[in-house]
Amino acid sequence: MKRIGVLTSGGDAPGMNAAIRAVVRKSIYNGLEAYGIYQGYSGLINGNIKQLELGSVGDIIHRGGTMLRSARCDEFKTKEGQQKGIEQLKKFGIDALVVIGGDGSFMGAKALTEQGFPCIGVPATIDNDISGTQFTIGFDTALNTVLDSIDRIRDTATSHERTFIIEVMGRDAGDIALWAGLAGGAETILVPEEKYDMDNIVERLQSGQKRGKKHSIIIVAEGVMSATDFAKELKNSIDIETRVSVLGHIQRGGTPTGFDRVLASRLGARAVELLMDGKGGRTVGIEKDKIIDNDIISVIGQPRTFSADMYDLSQILSI
Ligand code: ADP
Repeated sequence: MKRIGVLTSGGDAPGMNAAIRAVVRKSIYNGLEAYGIYQGYSGLINGNIKQLELGSVGDIIHRGGTMLRSARCDEFKTKEGQQKGIEQLKKFGIDALVVIGGDGSFMGAKALTEQGFPCIGVPATIDNDISGTQFTIGFDTALNTVLDSIDRIRDTATSHERTFIIEVMGRDAGDIALWAGLAGGAETILVPEEKYDMDNIVERLQSGQKRGKKHSIIIVAEGVMSATDFAKELKNSIDIETRVSVLGHIQRGGTPTGFDRVLASRLGARAVELLMDGKGGRTVGIEKDKIIDNDIISVIGQPRTFSADMYDLSQILSI
């Protein structure tokens, strides 16, 4: 093997740059050449490909987003699109590919591997919704961004004695809501993995009121419903004044945390090692601080184990 390609695809996540840097530098360290494919699978089809040197990935480890840009590309879901991609890879003499992205991006990596082109998937998404890894690149940064917002909103909630309903991202996963809610001392956390009980939520608000508490923070994961809809539902059950805050895309950007940079560096480097060992069709991940790899087929579309223990703890600590 002589040349390794790297691309980022799907939703961007802080730490993607650190992963690109790791792939490029680990490749060059091992005497290989590294090629950056710009704009995800769309750039692959169009041959938007350039050789990357050690210096090409300098000064990016601390930056959010992705220097290779990202894109969504429906054409790549077709066999014809994938063949066009493989032709481009052959044209540039690239032997193997590292795909940094989420579940959808891994489908593309799987399709390429099945057509004889070895790919490794590196999990990067703020949602932490990929199986085969305890953490995805970007989750820790998003968690801390959300937490910072909760802390700020809490100041206002306390000052004005109001209940705030904060909507956070996560797609179908509740990890951002759960972790940020637990760390932010939220009174109620709504996640798609656990059914909520409105009577219980109302009871908690009322018992809080009885002991003199006049403000409250409720975190709603976007996978449950919108914060606006939840506010309407709550209004039907209890007469309190609420304010809604939808955090939106601020959760996706920003300087990656130390944890995300280290995770991205380790995962990116392991992806190169696997390709050098002649392995394709795998994803890398972290479990109990060990870098592991899994068959991509066993990862795609599989739900991640939700931490029910942490959810229970959040309920206990917010009485
Ligand atoms: P994420 O990787 O963040 O989950 P998407 O689901 O949008 O993001 O997927 C990103 C890209 O991966 C898509 O735009 C498409 O190019 C590619 N992709 C998604 N599903 C498939 C599939 N079934 N086959 C091939 N490529 C796919």
